[in-house]
Formats: sequence, structure tokens, C-alpha cells
Amino acid sequence: MTKPEKKLQELKTRLLEVGDLNHINALLGWDQATYMPPGGAPARGRQSALLARMAQEKFVDKKIGKLLDDLRPYEESLPYDSDDASLIRVTRREYERALKVPPKFIGELNEHAAKSYQEWTEAHPANDFSRVRGNLEKTLDLSRQLADFFPGYEHIADPLIDFADYGMKASSVRALFAELREQLVPIVRAITSQPPADNSVLHKHYPEANQLAFSAEVVKQLGYDFNRGRIDKTHHPFMTKFSLGDVRITTRVKENDFGDCLFSNMHEAGHAMYEQGIDMSYEGLPLGGGTSAGVHESQSRLWENIVGRSRGFWEYMYPKLQAKFPEQLKDVSLDTFYAAINKVEKSLIRTDADEVTYNLHVMLRFDFELQLLEGTLSIRDLPEAWHERFEQDFGIVPPDDRDGVLQDVHWYGGIIGGAFQGYTLGNILSAQFYEAALKAHPSIPDEMKEGRFGTLHGWLRENIYRHGSKYTAPEIIERASGSPLTIAPYIRYLKTKYGALYAL
Ligand code: ZN
Repeated sequence: MTKPEKKLQELKTRLLEVGDLNHINALLGWDQATYMPPGGAPARGRQSALLARMAQEKFVDKKIGKLLDDLRPYEESLPYDSDDASLIRVTRREYERALKVPPKFIGELNEHAAKSYQEWTEAHPANDFSRVRGNLEKTLDLSRQLADFFPGYEHIADPLIDFADYGMKASSVRALFAELREQLVPIVRAITSQPPADNSVLHKHYPEANQLAFSAEVVKQLGYDFNRGRIDKTHHPFMTKFSLGDVRITTRVKENDFGDCLFSNMHEAGHAMYEQGIDMSYEGLPLGGGTSAGVHESQSRLWENIVGRSRGFWEYMYPKLQAKFPEQLKDVSLDTFYAAINKVEKSLIRTDADEVTYNLHVMLRFDFELQLLEGTLSIRDLPEAWHERFEQDFGIVPPDDRDGVLQDVHWYGGIIGGAFQGYTLGNILSAQFYEAALKAHPSIPDEMKEGRFGTLHGWLRENIYRHGSKYTAPEIIERASGSPLTIAPYIRYLKTKYGALYAL
């Protein structure tokens, strides 16, 4: 080995230890959200905070800084897209960011997040905002402190948005959302002024075991690899990863709401297929994860909505679903079922929202994050502000906080700021990537009607998944689709699909 190769090897060894600690911590988090009894919470919070602190300390070690300095000439001698140069570049970016946040603060943040999450799991069903208000005030305080480790921002949310969606800031997201809102609101108005679609077929009784079995078969067929993954039950479904060989998804089942389990499984499987598709040589290293929240969400939304709620997909899958639930569905036509799973309505819960109104839920949360961080809105006034804004945007008033400010885990198990814009970026990008895949392979819709998803999966793996974090989100968008982020394909997609469904 030459001298730089030796140094690179030493860097990789150190980074792998950091990656291992973080993945062990993810395992504790998965256990907490699936099987751990409530009594485990205090110790789990402490243990998780310890691991997070150890990982942070190992990562900001001066020896890593020295290796990155020593490796600069080697990096500069390589092409930008070489794996070695990319590893050094991406590690340096994360290292410089991590140096700014003291390990003690990370530990405090993680310990608080674990405690706050646990109390939310009880306060949410109990519809008791007062129980989490103090935690949320501390979360806001910690979120502001975190942003202040990155002085020189234009808006206090900018550093927090940048963690999740590198290269974006409050002003750029605001401008994008304003552009989208202008296009979206007339579509929502045109649809919701019509009689609502009948989705009562989804609210018959669908036994849990059959729902779990069917949705597992579906995600397997899409390409989720069960040799490197599994599905367990939780409160609020998520994807998590302990290595590239162990990428798990979680789910929940409502026996009187057929869509909840299936579409959430397709969603999480979309996230998981992204991670399972990453180049194995990036295992445990800073390149070995999805590149941004928005690009990650583009994959969950692509599989959940563009594929999973398409007519072609159900031409293939519906007879199989009827066979699984003959009593419930034998007399229900494909057209009725297709209209039911694509019902557009102004509803209370973000995760249950249809494709068309979903982004309005995100915009509301994004605006609140900015106001909370700015100090123009207090936690005390948040539930009331939620009710008012919801009525403005949706014309309905949430009956309580459970279906209002308590519904999403994000602020209760993490930080306030940067938590939500990725969902709408993901919706926009899902259409942009799908359009690019169709341009390369016009046969994809016909293959879907026969239950074949390999061409689409292969295009995504080749153009997005395998690269992990080697390229930034703006780079991967440009490389995969040939243009920067644009709302045009998403608007085209919505107008075509819902134009046909609602005769717009
Ligand atoms: Zn998601």
C-alpha cells in the first residue's frame, strides 16, 4: 500500500467504529419503538445518550482531522466522483459540522429526545398536550442552541434545514412552497367542490394477520429484500438500518382501515430499498446512507403513490387482494377500489392525507417551525395556532390536540426545525425521478400491469440508490433527471391522474 492508501485505510477503520456505535444506537431505538416495555425508558434514554456521545467523541477526534488534512493532496489527485475522493470530501464536510457541536450537548439532546418520545407515546392517545408542553419547550430551546452553533445564518432554521436537506434554507424552501401552493390550491378546490369519492370499502373489517401477510407479499414483490430486512409493529411506522445487510421497516394495522398498513409498508419499503441498494463497499462509512431527507422521501413516495396508487399496479394486484379478502371485496370492482384509494379530501391527519392535500399539511408544519424558532409563536400558543391555521387552510377545525398538534412524533422525539420540508421535497422529486425513469424505459407502466417492477427498481438503483451519499441532493437530482429540482413533473402527474379521476 502507498502512504495515502494506508492513511485512507486508517480513516476508514476509525469511521467504521463511529458507524458501528451509531448503528448500535439505532438498534436500541428500534427496540424502544417496537418491543421494549415502558419501564425500560429511563435506562434506555441514558444508554442511548452514552452511545451517541461516544460516537460523537470518536468522530471529532483530532486524529480524524489530521488524516483528512494529510489526505487532501490525494483527494485532489483523484476525479470528483471517485469513491475515495468522495469519502474524504463527504467526511470532511460532516467532520467540520460535527466539530461545531459539543459532545455533551449531543448527549443532552439525545437523552431529552428519548424521554420526550416516551411521554409522547402516552400523551398522544390520552389527548393531553399539557403533559408534553414542558418537554416541547425544552426541545425548542435545544433546537435554538443547536442552530446557534452555526452562526452566520440568514434564518435561525437554516442550519437545521441544511442538516436534513443539504443546500436548502428557509428562504429557498419558502419560495418553492409558494410556487407549489399557487398550483395546488386550485386543484384541491376543483376536487373538493365535487361530491367526495366513496371509500367505505376500505373501512370494512380486514383481519390483522391477513393485512400483514398481504402487505409483506407486496413489498417483497416490489423488491424489498427480506434476507436483509424484516417488518415489526410500532406506533408510528419508520425505517431503520443497523447495516446495509439489515434494513428494517415497522408498521401498524387498523382492522377497519385497510390502506393504513399496506400503503405505509410500501412507503417504508421505498425508504428501505434505497438503503438496501447502496454500494456494499460504503458499509458503515459516511457514504453509506441516503443523501438527504428529500431524496429519501422521494423513494418512499414513489413506491407508495406513483406505483402503489396507480391504476396499472392494481390491475395486477387487485385480483390477488380479492383472493386474500374474498368476503370484503368479491363484489367490489377495480374502479371502485381505485377511486377509494385515491380519494381526495380535506382531512385532519398528515399521514392519512391523500397525495393532493398532503403538501398543505407539510407547509403548515414548516411555517410553524420557522415561527417557533423565530420566537414569533410560543409553545403555549401552538395548539390554538394549529386550530386557527388548520381552519384557514382546510376549512375544518380539529376536534382536539390528538388530531392536531400531537399527531406527529417528529417534534417530540427530535428537534424543531428541518423536520418536515423533506416530505414535500420528496413528493416533488418522486415525480421528477419517475418521469426520468420513464424516459429511459417507456415500458415501465406496462411491466407494472404484469407485476414486474425490476426495470424501475434497476433504474433507481443505478441512478440513485447505489451512490449513497456520494453526491449531494442537487447533484443526484441533476445527474439522474438531467435538470435541477422542479415542480413541473409533479404538477403534470397530479393533473393527469386526478384530472382523469375527477374529470377536471
Ligand atoms: Zn417517509
